[in-house]
Amino acid sequence: MDGLTQLAELLREFPGIGPRQARRLAFYLVRRDRNWVDSFAKTLLTAKSEVRTCTSCMRLFPATGDAVDCNICTNPSRDTAMLLLVEKDVDLENIERTGAYSGLYFVVGGTTSALDKDPARSIRLRELEQRIKNSDLREVVLALSATTEGDETATFLRDHIETKVDTKTVTITHLGRGLSTGTELEYVDKDTMRNALSGRN
Ligand SMILES: [Zn+2]
Repeated sequence: MDGLTQLAELLREFPGIGPRQARRLAFYLVRRDRNWVDSFAKTLLTAKSEVRTCTSCMRLFPATGDAVDCNICTNPSRDTAMLLLVEKDVDLENIERTGAYSGLYFVVGGTTSALDKDPARSIRLRELEQRIKNSDLREVVLALSATTEGDETATFLRDHIETKVDTKTVTITHLGRGLSTGTELEYVDKDTMRNALSGRN
């Protein structure tokens, strides 16, 4: 396999990239000059070496020193009795950008459904159980995309969490209306997200 084809194959592994787009990106990259490609490669390696997974919320964060938890999880002004579950890091960033949520997060890392024979392979189920165990939660917000996968994941998570917490003290809510069907959370604009957060039920 020639270098260009190999590059295109790698790019195909990116989320949302099909074979034609991968090929187009590969051409684009090799057309750039040597310096740009060098700096691109270095930037990628630096980002990779600086980023760590937060042991508490599982999001990736640029770590300094030997911090194991991110700046959100260690921020004393966040409401530790609220835990909002998202599928991926970009969803968390999108919600964080609204400034309308002051609790903590957990990145489940994928989608699943009741038909999934081994959901722990699709989402961070064990880590989530650890996270909610022994924590003084008042509310768990299920903030999944308004897609079939998102809905099925939310249903699965609700049922599962209900077996792990005292449902008399912990309320499980979903993002409110305003998210039209088929909407991926990462593409939701600020105002819509703010409404969805305040209208959770
Ligand atoms: Zn964190």
